[in-house]
Amino acid sequence: MIRYINVKSRTRTEFIDITEKVQELLKEAGLVSGIGYLYVPHTTAAVTINEGADPSVQRDILTVLNRMIPFEGDYLHKEGNSSAHIKASLIGPSLSVMIDEGRLVLGTWQSVFFCEFDGPRHRRVAVKFLSDKKMP
Ligand code: ZN
Repeated sequence: MIRYINVKSRTRTEFIDITEKVQELLKEAGLVSGIGYLYVPHTTAAVTINEGADPSVQRDILTVLNRMIPFEGDYLHKEGNSSAHIKASLIGPSLSVMIDEGRLVLGTWQSVFFCEFDGPRHRRVAVKFLSDKKMP
């Protein structure tokens, strides 16, 4: 079963913390132990895990990405959003997070982020939970 998280981005590039939404889906699924697999079915968005405590970190990552991969450049892609495609490939379309005792296994400062690179748009993240609990 694939579950979905709906995300609405508000700006061209932004990180959106989806940790609580993933945790809610996990609670609904009732999984105790295993792996959560997140996948973004978009070509100009990504998912990553990084610091959630200080929003400056997300801003710094975006600032550097936007500097490294400018919006305008010597791009061939006619749609005009090549920088978003490149950023999406760099960060990546998926990630895995371990699950233990019904919770995502994240470090104190870690959060799960949806990364928008061509917003604002309505997006979604596909989530699959796999259990490793053995039969009693
Ligand atoms: Zn495009």
